Amino acid sequence: MTAMIKAEGVRKSFGQLEVLRGIDLQVAPGEVCCLLGPSGSGKSTFLRCVNHLESVSAGRLWVDGQLVGYRQRGDKLHELRESEIAQRRRDIGMVFQRFNLFPHLTAVGNIMEAPVHVLGESRAEARQRALALLERVGLADKADAYPAMLSGGQQQRVAIARALAMRPKLMLFDEPTSALDPELVGEVLDVMRDLAAEGMTMMVVTHEMGFAREVADTVVFMDGGVVVEAGTPAQVLGDPQHERTRAFLAKVL
Ligand code: ADP
Ligand code: MG
Repeated sequence: MTAMIKAEGVRKSFGQLEVLRGIDLQVAPGEVCCLLGPSGSGKSTFLRCVNHLESVSAGRLWVDGQLVGYRQRGDKLHELRESEIAQRRRDIGMVFQRFNLFPHLTAVGNIMEAPVHVLGESRAEARQRALALLERVGLADKADAYPAMLSGGQQQRVAIARALAMRPKLMLFDEPTSALDPELVGEVLDVMRDLAAEGMTMMVVTHEMGFAREVADTVVFMDGGVVVEAGTPAQVLGDPQHERTRAFLAKVL
């Protein structure tokens, strides 16, 4: 089976600063991978590479069997054009710490935006699907609310619905609950848990250890731009083999 994400020796530098120093990992279709690690360890940079927001400096990264940044013809690699990158990015949903909803559009309007303008769906079809997605994230009654009228947790659930409207093969979450008041974290994690149960392939950067323990198939602990250890939640969270992992867990648990 083709991996949904496969990284081999992925490196990324910004000038002299080497942020990713040889990342190896794999995520199979339908799996949930939680990425943990201290601030500055390169987690966001890795997600941004997967989503074509950063180029890889060295090594190879495949998403759904396609080499990121390149089109392969026989033995030859050709760099992707902007339009081809945009095409590939459509298959990947990303949810950030900040919700980034369009403030001038209602919840349903936010969700309809890309299906109408990128996929060319009719407004009627996009609206019907958007309402179904709002129902799925528990916000059927907020279709006509503007972002400013919604709590942070509600906005983040709209952001998830908006990503799902593009029918992604893969969802990336970069600390989706870090900006939320504690009492709003659970409602967002519940939506993510449902999504995982429905078989969505997900890579989630999070400090929510309960979520990682219950939902992740694999947990990857990164530090200093490398994968220190990876395995099942029981292995990495329950029986960490490396001192750096133990020190990190002692701080977040
Ligand atoms: P994490 O998400 O694990 O906290 P990041 O991937 O955001 O880590 O950042 C890793 C390191 O890369 C940090 O030292 C950060 O300052 C640096 N970095 C990230 N993006 C850029 C950029 N565009 N230019 C320069 N340095 C960057
Ligand atoms: Mg980050």
